Amino acid sequence: MKREKIIEVLKSNETGKTVLVKGWVRTKRGSKNINFIALNDGSTIHNLQIVVEVENFNDKLLRNITTGAALSVSGELTQSQGSGQNVELRAQEIELLGGADPDKYPIQPKRHTLEFLRENAHLRFRTNTFGAVFRIRHAMAFAIHKYFNEKGFYYMHTPIITASDAEGAGQMFRVSTLDPVNPPTTEEGEIDYTRDFFGKPANLTVSGQLEGELGAMALGEIYTFGPTFRAENSNTTRHLAEFWMIEPEMAFYDLTDNMDLAEDFLKSLIRYALDNCMDDLQFLANRLREEEKNKPQDQRSMELIEKLESVAGSDFVRCTYTEAIEILKRSKPYKKKKFQFPVDWGVDLQSEHERFLVEKHFKRPVILINYPKEIKAFYMKQNDDNKTVGAMDVLFPQIGEIIGGSQREEDYNKLVTRMKEMDIPVEEMWWYLDTRRFGSAPHSGFGLGFERFILFVTGMGNIRDVIPFPRTPKNAEF
Ligand code: ATP
Ligand code: MN
Repeated sequence: MKREKIIEVLKSNETGKTVLVKGWVRTKRGSKNINFIALNDGSTIHNLQIVVEVENFNDKLLRNITTGAALSVSGELTQSQGSGQNVELRAQEIELLGGADPDKYPIQPKRHTLEFLRENAHLRFRTNTFGAVFRIRHAMAFAIHKYFNEKGFYYMHTPIITASDAEGAGQMFRVSTLDPVNPPTTEEGEIDYTRDFFGKPANLTVSGQLEGELGAMALGEIYTFGPTFRAENSNTTRHLAEFWMIEPEMAFYDLTDNMDLAEDFLKSLIRYALDNCMDDLQFLANRLREEEKNKPQDQRSMELIEKLESVAGSDFVRCTYTEAIEILKRSKPYKKKKFQFPVDWGVDLQSEHERFLVEKHFKRPVILINYPKEIKAFYMKQNDDNKTVGAMDVLFPQIGEIIGGSQREEDYNKLVTRMKEMDIPVEEMWWYLDTRRFGSAPHSGFGLGFERFILFVTGMGNIRDVIPFPRTPKNAEF
């Protein structure tokens, strides 16, 4: 007999039919004569109820069916007597594929804290919460590829190892095969990287953008979707050392086209989640509602599904950095000295400022544009005011910055001048600069932090809980 997925079995109304399912026991309860097993196989958040007539089965087998055990069960699909499900499975044959010693198995049918589950990240997929999060994560990855494919963008695989440290987006992780105890040295006593694997210092990439631009200048519209690495020592709920980024790069797009794409992209993804992940979203929404009950009224956040509907249906605010600074300076928290970080034209906005703009002032997602050139990367298009660049950050409720992007400087001379001002090694970047020498054209792009987006969609509070195995300072277990 062919195994069926529980999601299909639950949908089917073919009572009387014999089916075979395989999965893990979530709970077992019952009486002397009859047992009820909730079986989950990961295909859906819902369990299939297995009805077991005790007299038909071996005692020892039934004793070994405990939470976490893996089973193969065949039987007859029947109309369910109990509430909560349409159909249930009357077990005819049960095979214990793998037991789970109840004294040792950490994931018991009770509420575990997220901290405990992080320490047991190898088993946390087996909880409803993480099942829901990782199914949604998958659906969003799929929706991203679908979105770009339908728009004629090409998926481009940019390198993970890079020898250029010009990306400037953060501290990098070195990649080296040199002996760390006795590295070869030059006559001057410095480490001799010519003898390293790549013949020069190499790092894990912080962004695929620079290579992405090369692709866009021939293929037209490309996107990357891969892991990126930052050795920044920021222990926040929004930073990982290893995270996934989606970076579209488009020829012939100006900043407005770039904003239009970012807004449509985010809304489409949220719409996809609402249309395709409702069971999991509903579970997470309920979970969140329980959690919010313990918070004071004024700190509660919007209901999850309502929040997703609202963002999917709203027009994002577009506002310049300069206007944002003025708004912040006129704000209550500023006047009452409630902001921890300073607000002044020229400083980078912190997430407390970003969240004020989105959650309190505009009450909608905000795209901030035209940032001071001093706080942005060398490749951003220089505006005529000589002070700002054509950057755009998309700010979301609860998250703050979710997308960072810009129109790119296409003028060779302006770009080189800026690189020199910022101490970017111009010679090393000859390949990047070649795009500005041969057929240069206006172009734009942005980077969406995948985990930040998943935080938003799932309503989870900590970025460590939306990636299977988080890498953060002092933490690379599993
Ligand atoms: P932040 O100021 O929040 O650290 P950033 O300005 O360093 O972000 P960018 O370099 O513009 O971010 O990266 C593009 C996107 O990647 C960000 O908008 C964010 O969604 C995501 N991102 C950046 N750093 C991290 C990180 N350490 N962990 C997870 N996502 C990140
Ligand atoms: Mn950062």
